[in-house]
Amino acid sequence: MKVLVVGSGGREHALAWKLSRSPRLTKLYAAPGNAGCAQVAECVDIKAEQIDSLVAFAMGEKIDLTVVGPEVPLCMGLVDRLERAGRKAFGPTKDAARLEGSKVFAKGLMRKHNIPSAEYRIFKNSRDARAYLDRAEYPLVVKADGLAAGKGVRVAKDRDDAVEHVLDCMERKVYGDAGNEVVIEEALPGSEASVLVVTDGKTLVVLETARDYKRACDGDQGPNTGGMGAVSPAPGFDAETMRTVEQRILIPAVHAMNREGHPMKGVLYAGLMLTPGGPRVLEFNVRLGDPETQPLMLRLKSDLLDLLDAAASGTLERVTPEWDPRPAVGVVVTSAGYPGKYDTGKPITGLGDKEPEDAVVFHGGTTKRMGKVVTNGGRVLTVTALGETVAAARKRAYERVRTVSFDGAYYRSDIGKDLE
Ligand code: AMP
Repeated sequence: MKVLVVGSGGREHALAWKLSRSPRLTKLYAAPGNAGCAQVAECVDIKAEQIDSLVAFAMGEKIDLTVVGPEVPLCMGLVDRLERAGRKAFGPTKDAARLEGSKVFAKGLMRKHNIPSAEYRIFKNSRDARAYLDRAEYPLVVKADGLAAGKGVRVAKDRDDAVEHVLDCMERKVYGDAGNEVVIEEALPGSEASVLVVTDGKTLVVLETARDYKRACDGDQGPNTGGMGAVSPAPGFDAETMRTVEQRILIPAVHAMNREGHPMKGVLYAGLMLTPGGPRVLEFNVRLGDPETQPLMLRLKSDLLDLLDAAASGTLERVTPEWDPRPAVGVVVTSAGYPGKYDTGKPITGLGDKEPEDAVVFHGGTTKRMGKVVTNGGRVLTVTALGETVAAARKRAYERVRTVSFDGAYYRSDIGKDLE
């Protein structure tokens, strides 16, 4: 099969790396990919948001399966366009992607179909929102409706904090049209966890669990980031909790999407709060997480192409993925200054051509310039390793981290430490 991976982060390198091991693969492309993807795929110079060019490329090359990594092209309708052109794709249609792309849509679906989540109200203008905030109890959570690159949610400790975020969304338009409506919801107590499934709209395959580390600095301090590291499996998931999440959240969500006429296909990622009253949904995503995908791909023993192709073809009931029981730890190495401003173009040393299968340096923001791999983004690498225990995987990952370097390289030193 000819396969195209869309995206350019560590997630896409991990997907391409695993897909490249499939006996069914004849040719692998990545658009636009990065220097890591280039080790296992042919990179094509088309960005993930250039959906016209992506469709033209898939048609011209007769791509059998397009695997879409990031949420933006999904919400722009890339999968609809590919399917209309007779090309198979792994990922939801534009309508189904609203589960991630519109919090107003997701909350409405959950309320209508009794899927446990936080109580909420929707506001279409800042005057009404502020009037509500004057009489509300705190803390509460203010969310921009649309995609805001992970920055649209504020857990507000008091009224002033909440009003600031409403103004950012609705008056200052910091998130563009994504802030035209806001959801204001109760703050849920508990610990956070996520569960991911692959679905074809009929069958659900629950993936191994993973947790990510969002804050920039050790001890979960500092600003929020796209993710500084991840560990699989995640703690806190006994069989009972997992059953509840499946029965009360995941299966009802897939059924609800079918009943609403937007069948879900691809990944359904439920961000959850494990509250004293049971698991409740904080958000849905419709794609794999970055960096959670990196440790997951190291742990997946069976063929990724089989799984993704079956989901895209509606034959998922035939596939049962096999997982390595060993834990995996992924440590993200960033450019100095990330998540704020940072420089690019710094040469990276210590990257091997051939990585051992159980310790891989996945590339995120990297590119090749005059034959040299240089930094090209905030999250540059995810150094990911398997081990008999979390401690052993951590040790292995950090040993490898210390062998790669570039000017200003930064990483957290405590990824997975709390799980040892
Ligand atoms: P979301 O993008 O909706 O997952 O929100 C981002 C982060 O905000 C979550 O990972 C939580 O840490 C926090 N959050 C969102 N909604 C709530 C809520 N209802 N109660 C408490 N924390 C929340």
